Parts: sequence; structure tokens; C-alpha cells
Amino acid sequence: MNEATPTEQPMAEEEALPSPPLLTLNGVSVQYGRTEVLTDIGFKVHAGDYIGIAGPNGSGKTTLMKAILGLLPLSSGNIQHGNSDSGSVHGRIGYLPQKAFSADRLFPAEVREIVAMGRLAGKRGFRFLNSLDREAVEAMLQKLNLSDLRNRRIGSLSGGQQQRVLLARALVGNPSILLLDEPTSALDPKVREEFYDILGRLNQEDRTTILLVSHDMGSIGKYTQKLLYLDRQILFFGSWEEFCRSSDMSALFGTLSQHNFCWRHTHA
Ligand code: ADP
Repeated sequence: MNEATPTEQPMAEEEALPSPPLLTLNGVSVQYGRTEVLTDIGFKVHAGDYIGIAGPNGSGKTTLMKAILGLLPLSSGNIQHGNSDSGSVHGRIGYLPQKAFSADRLFPAEVREIVAMGRLAGKRGFRFLNSLDREAVEAMLQKLNLSDLRNRRIGSLSGGQQQRVLLARALVGNPSILLLDEPTSALDPKVREEFYDILGRLNQEDRTTILLVSHDMGSIGKYTQKLLYLDRQILFFGSWEEFCRSSDMSALFGTLSQHNFCWRHTHA
């Protein structure tokens, strides 16, 4: 009765074939002078992942981000984007910096121009927008509900609107990974919630791959699917379900905090 049908096994294997990772870190270490601030970091990012990168102040989150963006030399290890080596990250990572635009109301750039900068960044030589670029900019403005603001000066917008413009700029070049650094730290709670809603939709509907760096484990626990917890080395990397079941993590955070970070996952 329990005999396995011979055809079942190969099918299961086929389905289980994982897609190649978009980003692979192998044994990455980084030093400032003689001080090592990241030690032996290794993990993979796959298409459609939504990974929160958390850790206390000084744990190396910014350093890790800079390393992924190719802005820092590695003292050992390597970083691979897709199948190739990390020579250039041009076009591969869309980066959204921490603070909303330094809100000078008179800064002359308009929303449409700021978003268009995301198409120019990957171009070499003469930099101008072709019709494909213009279409991509218009489509992105529409997607992020910015069409009505397209001719407004960025400095005249609210913090939440500015952050959406910068998100549009980061996405308009079709990066394989979106990397966000504490993207909501300058936003009030309601706008923050809206911003995370947009990220959730991008991830669910478009399979946008997201790396979200934050010191706020509460937000990361609420919105992301996987956690990378860092303290100069990786203390945890896995799904939230694994985190919530981990006795090592109970010991590290205490059961109350672990429960608080996990409420969405244990009640899902
Ligand atoms: P986080 O973003 O998690 O707060 P950082 O990556 O900024 O952590 O910093 C990790 C460690 O590296 C800290 O001890 C910090 O003081 C140190 N550090 C960061 N940047 C530099 C630098 N440019 N030169 C020397 N030390 C640095």
C-alpha cells in the first residue's frame, strides 16, 4: 500500500530545484585599519526574498551594506552577483538611503527628474533618456502613485512622498535587488505603515527581492520573511518561523522579546 510510484521521485526532485541565488556572500570579512568589524559572513539571497538585516548599533550593518554595494574592500571572502563576480554592481542593486531627501523646499529638481536619475545611473558615455527610459519613468511614477506629483519640486513634498520618490528612483532601473537602509526612520507611524505596505506589495506582486536594514527588530519581524541577525558575525540567518522556534534565539533575546518579534508569525 505504501509503495512509492516510480515516477514520483524524479518529479519531486525537479520541483525542488532552487533558482540560482541573486547574491552570494562567501566568508566575507571587512577591516577598518587593523580592526575586523565583519567576520566570515556567508549567506545567499534568492529571487523573491524579503530579508531583514538587523543587529545592535555598531554591529556592522552599514559596513555590510557598503560591502554589498561594492564600496569597501574585503579583507577576505568574496561577493557574487548572480553568476558573475562582483566587479560592478551597476544596475544590480537599487539602493534607498536612510534619510528622506534633505528637505530644502527650494531644491530645484522635480519628481520626474529625480526618478529619471535612476535610469541614467547605469548608462556610460553620453547620458540621455531614450523613449524606453521615459516610458519606464512614467510607468514607475504611476506604480508608486506619483503621477500627480511628477512636476512638483521634491523639496515641497511630505517626508512620505519624498521617500516614495526615492523608492521610484531606486526601482526604475529594474535592479535585481532593492536594498533599503532604515527607510522609515524619518517617517511618522502612519506613513511608515503605508511605506511598508508598498514594499510588501512590491515583494508579493512583483517578486521584488528586498534587503531591509534596520535596528528595529519589531518592524523587521512584522514585515519581512527572513532575518539575518548580525553582531559582527552572523548570529542567525533563516526564516522567521525558524527564528521563533530557536532556543538559541530565546536565550539571546529573552522569551518575551522573541515572542514580540514573532507575533505575526506565530499567529499567522
Ligand atoms: P552599524 O551600522 O550596525 O551601526 P557600522 O557598520 O556602522 O555598524 O559599524 C561597525 C563598527 O565599525 C563600529 O564599531 C564602528 O565604530 C566601526 N566603523 C564604522 N565605520 C568606520 C570607519 N570608517 N573607520 C573605522 N571604524 C569604523
